[in-house]
Amino acid sequence: MKNEKTLTPKLVKKLWIAFIFLIVLMGASYIFITGYLTLNYNEAITQRINANVAEHVIQEKFQNDAPFLEDGSVNKALFGDLMHDMMAVNRGIEIYLLNNAGDILYSVVLEHNDNEPMKSVSLEPINKYIASNGQEFILGDDPLNPNEQNIFSAAPFSIDGHEGYIYIIVAGKQLALISDNLFGSYFTKLSIGAILLTMLFSALIGVLSIWFLTKNLRLITQTVRKFQEGDLDIRIENPEESDIEVVALSFNKMADSIVENMEKIKSVDNLRRELIANVSHDLRTPLAILKGYIETLQIKKDSLTEHQKDEYLQITHANIDKLSDLINQLFEYSKLEAEQVTPIKEPFSITELSHDLIAKFRLLAEQKQLHLELDNPEENYMVYADIGLVERALQNLIENAIKYTEPHGKVTLSLVKMGKQIEINITDTGNGIPINDQPFIFDRYKQVDKTTKKQGLGLGLAIVKKIMDLHDTTIVVLSKPYEGSSFIFKLPAYQLQ
Ligand code: ADP
Repeated sequence: MKNEKTLTPKLVKKLWIAFIFLIVLMGASYIFITGYLTLNYNEAITQRINANVAEHVIQEKFQNDAPFLEDGSVNKALFGDLMHDMMAVNRGIEIYLLNNAGDILYSVVLEHNDNEPMKSVSLEPINKYIASNGQEFILGDDPLNPNEQNIFSAAPFSIDGHEGYIYIIVAGKQLALISDNLFGSYFTKLSIGAILLTMLFSALIGVLSIWFLTKNLRLITQTVRKFQEGDLDIRIENPEESDIEVVALSFNKMADSIVENMEKIKSVDNLRRELIANVSHDLRTPLAILKGYIETLQIKKDSLTEHQKDEYLQITHANIDKLSDLINQLFEYSKLEAEQVTPIKEPFSITELSHDLIAKFRLLAEQKQLHLELDNPEENYMVYADIGLVERALQNLIENAIKYTEPHGKVTLSLVKMGKQIEINITDTGNGIPINDQPFIFDRYKQVDKTTKKQGLGLGLAIVKKIMDLHDTTIVVLSKPYEGSSFIFKLPAYQLQ
């Protein structure tokens, strides 16, 4: 169970980096949104609470005393009084007396700063505010801080032909300071809390989602590792249900073809081993015979009659022929097996080739008292194939037919046109092939049981089979024991224009 990691540290690292980035991004946006909304919320509340302050000032203070004296100047005493009230309640408030154009006529400010105060303020937010009855959250000019906007309360007045506004900055410097301080500490707590909570939940969700997302990946990695460690039967179960279906299916297919190829290599390897074993066995017999006769000739050369010597020499000769035949077959088969032979296809007359072969084997057939003939010899059929290889295949088949047919039997070679193909049939009236042996005759050399081997190396039909493969055709055997055998294959007909 060593090295059980299913995901590479690199992948996990990448996923985590992506996740931390996401968490930080989420935390930052959370803080930003909360901060922004909280600030607005605070200001809106302060503004709403102080909505009627300006109105009250007008109602309370201007009822008995006019804000302007008879000479048109500002009633400073009245505003001085107002200042005393403010000092007792809230030093942060700033009160401004505005004319109709928004010019500041008088101001009551307890907390000053170093800025040059504004001479007039914009009336637009003031009118908007008055129109909404103090219900809308609107920021107006802050005369003490020319570049800033602040919450305010405002109300219009019209007394003794004087018109204007009372404009009150409700969250003056002090309020801003307090609010900043308080907000700062709450905000820090909120931010830390929010980030920690976000990180905690995100981390939880992260671990879970990485686990879920990579579940299939881990399964595939595990399966691949087991396969690599030698469990060739292992496959990804239900690959079509996997999140990464393509990978799962491809792995299964790849594993199948690897196993298939390994089986093929194994079987070819086995065939080779059996071939070598059988070949050495088959070569040993004629060699032993040769050795025996040559030794006898050497030892008994004086006591043997001329006739005996002749006979021995004939046997030696026959065995040398057999040996060279075996070696030729072996050479030919190994060349075909190693796929070193490429068929050179050309049109030729299969009828003529058949005539030639019949003529070649006639003597052998007559020696065995067999009738060898070509069916419908008048028809001239042309095929498109490698003439040398087809001749070799036919030769092996005719040779076998003669070899395995008893005297007075018959061997027939027939050619029949079937559509775009010519069917070639070599039929004999021999012993036939036992049903059980029929599936193996094309690779008979691999049979372990040597007793079933009659004569020859068993390479003749294997060579025929290879030649058929090279022509993309197949050969079939129809045989009934004691009745005879037929070997049938087809070649593409060549149409004369
Ligand atoms: P061999 O050198 O043994 O003849 P082949 O590959 O040519 O090898 O044939 C394989 C085996 O198939 C033969 O040993 C024989 O048992 C069987 N066989 C082939 N042709 C015939 C046939 N025409 N009639 C009966 N048996 C046949």
